[in-house]
Amino acid sequence: MTISPVIPVYNRSDIVFERGEGVYLYTKDGEKYLDFLSGIAVNALGYSHPHLVEALKTQGDKLWHLSNVFPNEPLTRLSKRLVDLTFADSVFFCNSGTEAVEAGIKAVRKYFSENGKPEKHRIITFEGAFHGRTFGAMAATGTDKILAGFEPRLEGFDKVAVDLDAVRAAIGPNTAGILVEPVQGEGGVMPLPYEFLCELRRICDEHDLLLFLDEVQCGVGRTGKLFAYEWCCAVPDVMSIAKGIGGGFPLGACLMVEKVAKALKVGSHGTTFGGNPLATAVGNAVLDIVAQEEFLAQVCRVGDYLGSRLQEICDKFPHIVHEVRGMGLMRGLKVTDPHLNADLLLKLRDNKLIVNAAGQNVIRFIPPLIIEESHVDEAFVMIEKTFSAL
Ligand code: PLP
Repeated sequence: MTISPVIPVYNRSDIVFERGEGVYLYTKDGEKYLDFLSGIAVNALGYSHPHLVEALKTQGDKLWHLSNVFPNEPLTRLSKRLVDLTFADSVFFCNSGTEAVEAGIKAVRKYFSENGKPEKHRIITFEGAFHGRTFGAMAATGTDKILAGFEPRLEGFDKVAVDLDAVRAAIGPNTAGILVEPVQGEGGVMPLPYEFLCELRRICDEHDLLLFLDEVQCGVGRTGKLFAYEWCCAVPDVMSIAKGIGGGFPLGACLMVEKVAKALKVGSHGTTFGGNPLATAVGNAVLDIVAQEEFLAQVCRVGDYLGSRLQEICDKFPHIVHEVRGMGLMRGLKVTDPHLNADLLLKLRDNKLIVNAAGQNVIRFIPPLIIEESHVDEAFVMIEKTFSAL
């Protein structure tokens, strides 16, 4: 037998971590790594955060799972809090980012169908975007690579460049909405300009379209606001979130304004596990901390510091990296040809810094949101040591 017992769809490392604490991961042999990846923007509060551990243990002693026929207290509380903290009037819970995107796609279509315009079902999406691995989310994703071998592509998506004229040209009688990541993550850590996002909002208003933001990666404090749309006037009608909201427990959600949420009736959509009490108890614990103004201010401050230290790296090693991208604690370093991000991140890993690769030959830094300036300095030394040896 040549196949591994786990389907080999991931490029897995040989390093086996046994435990995590704060912003560090430890192997069984006690080797310590500084984690600037956080399970791909998931472990917002790092590892073994006492408040999250306590929330999970407490809920674990009470109730693990209920059918969605019955309300559960953590779910009810989390939905109310998300409504209070955002543009949304109602929330659908699920378990992952791609499911949150699927829920949003379904909501957009159902809204127009319920309002007598079933012909409006197409969604404009962007080059470089990533929305997930299920069929709707794959069809919305900007890179064709992830669809290879899974054709035919689900119908109903019009991919355009990140360009307002291209967006306007793509609008037709069948257009229902625009789906966009305010900061493209997988595509190369690219914040879209505020004016661009605000203009999308205006275009949606003008053409009776829904603005659907995918904040699965850039949401939940990552950019220094609870949600990235708060940096500008691109208030969405629909928004998918996941990753950070569960702090490491699988949890996703699709947030909607009332007019859209009303289109989803009993039986329109559903999931067995979505809103599970364990997941939503942890989600509440994440919000207890991440939604605090001082916490978000700290993300901005440390994020700016990370940006400035990465710029120093660019200035010192322009033949290896030459551009800092991103905002808050979602940052990227653009690698200089002929170097490759995939090679560099392995070398950084050899020096005990964990980062990963994003599109456009970018090294991505998405550390736990609890990092401090001293951790940034530690990462700086590791990068300097790695690049000096090249
Ligand atoms: N949307 C965005 C913006 C993402 O970055 C991701 C994952 O990286 C997804 C959706 C899919 O999330 P998941 O892997 O939890 O299905």
